[in-house]
Amino acid sequence: MPEGDTIFRTARALTRALAGRPITGFRSNYPLLTRFNDDTPLAGQTVDRVEARGKWMLTWFSGGGILATHLLMSGSWHIYRPGEAWQVPARHMRIVIENSDYLAVGFHVPVAQMHTAQSLCRDRRIPQPHSDVLRSEFDSASAVDRVLACAREEIGDVLLHQHVLAGVGNVFKSEICFVNAVNPFALVASLRRDEIESLVQSAQQLVRANVLEDSGENIVTYRGQHRRTTHRSDPGESLWVYGRRSQPCRRCAEPIESRMQGPDARITFWCPQCQPLPCGSFVDV
Ligand SMILES: [Zn+2]
Repeated sequence: MPEGDTIFRTARALTRALAGRPITGFRSNYPLLTRFNDDTPLAGQTVDRVEARGKWMLTWFSGGGILATHLLMSGSWHIYRPGEAWQVPARHMRIVIENSDYLAVGFHVPVAQMHTAQSLCRDRRIPQPHSDVLRSEFDSASAVDRVLACAREEIGDVLLHQHVLAGVGNVFKSEICFVNAVNPFALVASLRRDEIESLVQSAQQLVRANVLEDSGENIVTYRGQHRRTTHRSDPGESLWVYGRRSQPCRRCAEPIESRMQGPDARITFWCPQCQPLPCGSFVDV
């Protein structure tokens, strides 16, 4: 699943290709989108901006329509020049937004809907700007309160709740817990408020560091002793624990462990030595 930083970078690239240029064509094989386009043609309008909200992407049209898409596990957006060959078969195309310079093509986009500003506010699944770690409106104090409200849940799971902290994905979840020496299976109730504050702060820092202009495609949380700016061939080389099962911990050399966590069975990596389970938590093995 694309993480919040990937969606953010995609939204930034789409904004550059689409914003301010008159739309010359819109196509989709979603009946609700084509009906919207029949009633209120998007051709002739402009794209005001493309915005990431957690794992949702919002395309704001000058006529007031807002296209909300979620990529889930499989979706992606590509940007092409007119006439350029697509890298994905056309049968997987779900949405095309076109101007005289670019085509933005959504492939395998499983969730797509048109909103107005009013219906967007009412849609509970789309995070509000204050819960998105990548937004300037992000409010860390209220995020800490939302984490604490999930007292009987494991912190690793809670970090993935988009209504609690939008933008944190499965890779960041393990990394955030490791850098704070917090066991991902610890119940929120067993953690101190300052530990939660520190987790929220790390979430903001680590995800934001991965959307800088010079950050590459791979998530980087660990840079080793020598800060390198070149792309790594092995994504796991730039992470503390994620994807490193049985490899030595970068801090204590204990083998990293992994197992599935939560109702969605998302894989979690941690160091049993650096991230001991606090009192008041249990592991349901
Ligand atoms: Zn360790």
